Amino acid sequence: MNKKFLGCVLASFLSTTVSAKTSVADNEKQVKDFIQSYEAKVDPAYKKATITEFDAQISGKDGDYKKSSQAQIDLTNIYANKDDYAVIKKLRKLKVTDKDLKRQLELIYDAYTSNQIAPEKLEAMIKLQTDIESKFNTFRANIDGKDLTDNEVENILKTSTNSAEVEKAWKGSKVIGKVVSDDLKKLVLMRNDAARELGFKNYHQMMLKLNEQDPAQVEKLFNELDQLTRPAYVSLKKEIDTALAKKFNIPVSKLQPWHYQNRYFQEAPAIYKLDLDTYYKGKDLVKIMENYYASIGMSADDIAARSDLYEKKGKYQHACENNMDRLNDIRVICNIKPNQYWMDTVLHEFGHGLYDKYTDKTMPWTFREPAHIFTTEAIAMMFGRMGSNPQWLHDAVGISREEQAKISDSSFKIQRMTQLVFSRWVQVMYRFEKSMYENPKQDLNALWWRLVEKYQLIKKPAGRTEPDWASKIHIATSPAYYHNYLMGELLASQLNAYMVRNIIKSKDIMNQSYFGNKEIGKYLIENVFAPGRKFYWNDMIKKATGEELTAKYYAKQFVK
Ligand SMILES: [Zn+2]
Repeated sequence: MNKKFLGCVLASFLSTTVSAKTSVADNEKQVKDFIQSYEAKVDPAYKKATITEFDAQISGKDGDYKKSSQAQIDLTNIYANKDDYAVIKKLRKLKVTDKDLKRQLELIYDAYTSNQIAPEKLEAMIKLQTDIESKFNTFRANIDGKDLTDNEVENILKTSTNSAEVEKAWKGSKVIGKVVSDDLKKLVLMRNDAARELGFKNYHQMMLKLNEQDPAQVEKLFNELDQLTRPAYVSLKKEIDTALAKKFNIPVSKLQPWHYQNRYFQEAPAIYKLDLDTYYKGKDLVKIMENYYASIGMSADDIAARSDLYEKKGKYQHACENNMDRLNDIRVICNIKPNQYWMDTVLHEFGHGLYDKYTDKTMPWTFREPAHIFTTEAIAMMFGRMGSNPQWLHDAVGISREEQAKISDSSFKIQRMTQLVFSRWVQVMYRFEKSMYENPKQDLNALWWRLVEKYQLIKKPAGRTEPDWASKIHIATSPAYYHNYLMGELLASQLNAYMVRNIIKSKDIMNQSYFGNKEIGKYLIENVFAPGRKFYWNDMIKKATGEELTAKYYAKQFVK
């Protein structure tokens, strides 16, 4: 997803002053004229940036990446323009009654604000961040004289039953924390300095506000979710501990962070036996996806036709969705193999694609994107979850009722564990970043482990004082962003609960595939996709579900 244009409208209109000399109609004309000239500049620059980026991702050629980064710089320069920013600030003080005009101006103002950092400061920050990123890219965990990739480390953590071996792998992987932590602390201070220059308390607060998130509201949501998930997590964690102690043949009291099958314990350990890959062997995942979306009244065929979906030499190895022109040129990049991971991913990326496709294109340019980065994640996650949903496997892939019944229990348990483990991990990430930017001089190593112990219930190894927090790349490269993943999961559950209750008219929120129900597509298009960014995200959610974003339905789905 493209994060470049996320702005904010939290700044209220209290500062509006009524000018005696100009009428509202004159004011609105001025705002309209400005928006028109802004769109004339940004629209072609945006298209050039998305097209060159897509080309580079497909070819992997240096020359294409150079073109892409130049187009990116040209686009950013539009938003860095000081004269335009001064004009916007003046326009914001005029009395304007047209709601859409006001909102567009606020969103444009916020997009400019985040690009007003002094160029030499911005350059220094980008350079330091790039340095840290390249240290991550070239780092290999050295274990007994052998250099291991992240994948190899993860593989040992998942499959080994030898405590000494997983301890070495885990500790080896954490060395990157020490390699980057001093630079990362410097970067945090620089980010805070830049944020303060723009009038924010610290960088974390700035990032939330410029993305239309009220820090107090996010905090409330995370507290609510903590309370709702804690008791279930405590008992699930006991179950996990019992299974892992057995796996390593040690008492539960001897379990250490390296026993949890993942460097950060952000994923569910494989303690239930279930192999969904067998159902996808030899299947055409794109066809399954197209048929499924068509059955709920949404056509993904045109997006698939423009997409690049299979492996190629030099091509970007992950998956993403791109809205090239904020009109109908929407493309997905995947590297599909017939397995469950790619089924989830194909459903996920085309979920993003359909959101963009069905956004009302008659709206102004600024509104033609999702309400928020996490609302499009919510749609992608809601459909991505289907790939491991037994009801969906029956309806969309064609497994038998017997097979469905056989995997029903374990797939539910895995889904639940995946969500609970992930939600506790995001609590750590969110609270760590918030506290770090509020007080960067504190003992960050101690802060990290305090949070890991409190939210993940993982004990700090005795006497450990390493900067383990710095080993998570997102803290350097996607700052103050991680909480959006969890907000996406909450909204996915809230939309599912609403649709099950009001459209499917059932009480069963778990075993739903929506297959064949065109009312589902109609509801999503009309209430979520079409409005794009016209409304503040929580207003959109309230209009669509009758409630603002809440953790309640996520808890209903995964906690009980
Ligand atoms: Zn996504």
